[in-house]
Amino acid sequence: MPKVAVVTGANKGIGFAIVRGLCRRFKGIVYLTARDVERGKQAVSNLEEEGLKPNFYQLDITDPFSVEKFRDYVKDKYGGIDILVNNAAIAFKCDSKESVAVQAEQTLFVNYFSLVATCDILFPILRNGARVVNVSSSAGHLSNIPSEELRNKFKDPNLTIEGLSKLLQKYINDAKKGNQVAEWGLSSYSVSKVGVTALTKIQQKLVDDRDIKVNAVHPGYVDTDMSSHKGPLSIDEGAVAPLFLALDAPETVRGEYVWFDKRIVSW
Ligand code: NDP
Repeated sequence: MPKVAVVTGANKGIGFAIVRGLCRRFKGIVYLTARDVERGKQAVSNLEEEGLKPNFYQLDITDPFSVEKFRDYVKDKYGGIDILVNNAAIAFKCDSKESVAVQAEQTLFVNYFSLVATCDILFPILRNGARVVNVSSSAGHLSNIPSEELRNKFKDPNLTIEGLSKLLQKYINDAKKGNQVAEWGLSSYSVSKVGVTALTKIQQKLVDDRDIKVNAVHPGYVDTDMSSHKGPLSIDEGAVAPLFLALDAPETVRGEYVWFDKRIVSW
């Protein structure tokens, strides 16, 4: 059976460059997945013009049915997954006119809750020894949360995924009441990525016995649609640390928060 690598949200930006890097270096099948079939197939054909051969599958992380369909397909065809890069995410622009309540609910829904749901579906078919890369952000550093009490909850070694999800649901509820700023800070995106980093550490404990490595990464400030093309790094530079964690990091790197220069950062 060939090895299999999967990247979510890979039709553009950093995810696209991660697929490019995997196609060049990973000895196995690489799946470029995207929520939109046309954008995904276009991305595949762009990589084919470079002589690379990614496979395509439609996968919307907010649609569990699409993730289950992909899981069943991969399980039948290849037996399992060896590399999973959870890259798909959204960010409202700073000048967005959407209310804080809407931004909080939608951002957490995509970046945190849908990532959890995707992992719930795909983790059972991870092969022993697999590597999972959760794309977080510098915004996912705990120092972005003003409340010490909350920070302590996030880094509680006994925190479960259920407990973390309840905590983040409380953020949404607070945002709906308009009283979230003092404790949680100004950014829904940041709260969602703190959630991703916290999740990574819990997930690692849950899959340690299967020798699976789960790490979170800040890819750097990258020139993509999400950053309104303000980031100084190219998408290939942004893919360096995710590719390092997917392919090269020592076995001892588990449950860590790693930055674009491959440095393990204290959370
Ligand atoms: P882009 O906005 O360029 O790309 C985001 C990708 O995610 C797109 O392919 C988008 O698809 C996809 N996506 C969004 N929602 C879904 C969904 N429901 N299901 C599947 N795919 C989805 O962003 P970047 O490349 O900049 O970001 C990639 C990752 O890096 C994100 O996790 C981001 O938070 C993180 N990051 C980025 C930084 C930067 O400076 N750019 C800095 C730190 C972290 P579509 O085209 O259909 O919208």
